[in-house]
Amino acid sequence: MCALQGTNKKEERPRRRATLYDNVSQQFGQAADLMELDPDIRRILAKTANEIVVHFPVKMDDGRVEMFTGYRVQHNNVLGPFKGGLRYHPSVEIDEVRALATWMTWKSALTDIPLGGAKGGIQIDPLKYSPREIEHITRRFTFALGDNIGPEYDIPAPDVNTNAQIMAWILDTYLSMMPAHERNRSTHVVTGKPVESGGSVGREKATGQGVVYIIERWAKDHGFLLNRATYTVQGFGNVGSWAARLLKPHGAKLIAAEDVGGALFNENGIDPDDLANYVKKQGNVGGYPHAKAIAHETFMSTKADIFIPAALENQINAETAPWLNVKLVAEGANGPTDPEGDAILRRKGIELIPDILCNAGGVIVSYFEWLQNKRSESWELEEVDSRLHKKIIQAYEKVRSTAKAYETDWRTAAYIVALTRLATVYKERGIFP
Ligand code: GLU
Repeated sequence: MCALQGTNKKEERPRRRATLYDNVSQQFGQAADLMELDPDIRRILAKTANEIVVHFPVKMDDGRVEMFTGYRVQHNNVLGPFKGGLRYHPSVEIDEVRALATWMTWKSALTDIPLGGAKGGIQIDPLKYSPREIEHITRRFTFALGDNIGPEYDIPAPDVNTNAQIMAWILDTYLSMMPAHERNRSTHVVTGKPVESGGSVGREKATGQGVVYIIERWAKDHGFLLNRATYTVQGFGNVGSWAARLLKPHGAKLIAAEDVGGALFNENGIDPDDLANYVKKQGNVGGYPHAKAIAHETFMSTKADIFIPAALENQINAETAPWLNVKLVAEGANGPTDPEGDAILRRKGIELIPDILCNAGGVIVSYFEWLQNKRSESWELEEVDSRLHKKIIQAYEKVRSTAKAYETDWRTAAYIVALTRLATVYKERGIFP
């Protein structure tokens, strides 16, 4: 009896929590089933191509040596060089990076740019280090990655807690490791660089700009007036703050915002430019004087027209999705909604523009930056913006018609568009040998 009880106990152990890569696999499986994706191609795309883990030492300001762990996962490069950001965050680990790399492949395929999918990062809390230490960590990470990145092979970009300055350090370190005569034709080893160092105008705001182009188009399709709309934003970093600021000229009103510093609410509206300035100085939205502090649940339950999650993954899930009281979720972050959250939003009739479409503005303009570097050109902002608009709206229209044709949700439809393009190329090229 006792022994049996013991066995039962073991069997009743709680189920393993779904990981982020499980979420991607579930989304992928759903689309692959519906479109009857060739099983061979399904097997190929279900795996990442390369997974690089590096451990490297860096001397800290006080003379101590600390060891760091960095990752670069390359999911697929059948459409072009591996492409995707680098994030600096304590939650960075192999499963997360694997999922984020896979989403990049879908994103490039969906938006019809000649790039593949990758992602990387370092498992650190950047707030714990001085700017000098961050520079050294970045340079030593770049050195550790060595030939695993390259302008025609794998091209990093900014992501959570990384920016143009960090890209400039990566560029400088990478070029310093090359023969002198090859340096000037290798500036496209990273995108999201400062404009003076070969970056593109319009890249910094590009992800938020893409989110706003998509929202504008969604509003037009629904006869919905943005000048009367209210919206809430989670995460006030690059994506969230730019999306909020670019919605302001439409007359829409930001009524709640949340980040690591807490959540804020003001029914009369929060000025996104003012809040962005505050965050630049203070580090996060906590303590912002022109709105009242609210709890996380209150923030997630705020009645508004549009919710823009632009922070981390799995924010809309079985617990929080029932709280949402909005018409549209426009995913600025990667993976903010898990499959259970998705199902709940669908049941509630909340529309959702999926991450691989909604936040693709960043990688689209990264592609433009890469092209400009290769051609030694520098485009004007109007040209960057109008090309971004064209690309992202083309993808939007393809997703809309695919959702209709397959009678499915927009996430599954976006996957079907991306997977169709990848499958076509695999069929044309075949499998070596
Ligand atoms: N990190 C951004 C993303 O998740 C941009 C990637 C890039 O520009 O390569 O899409």
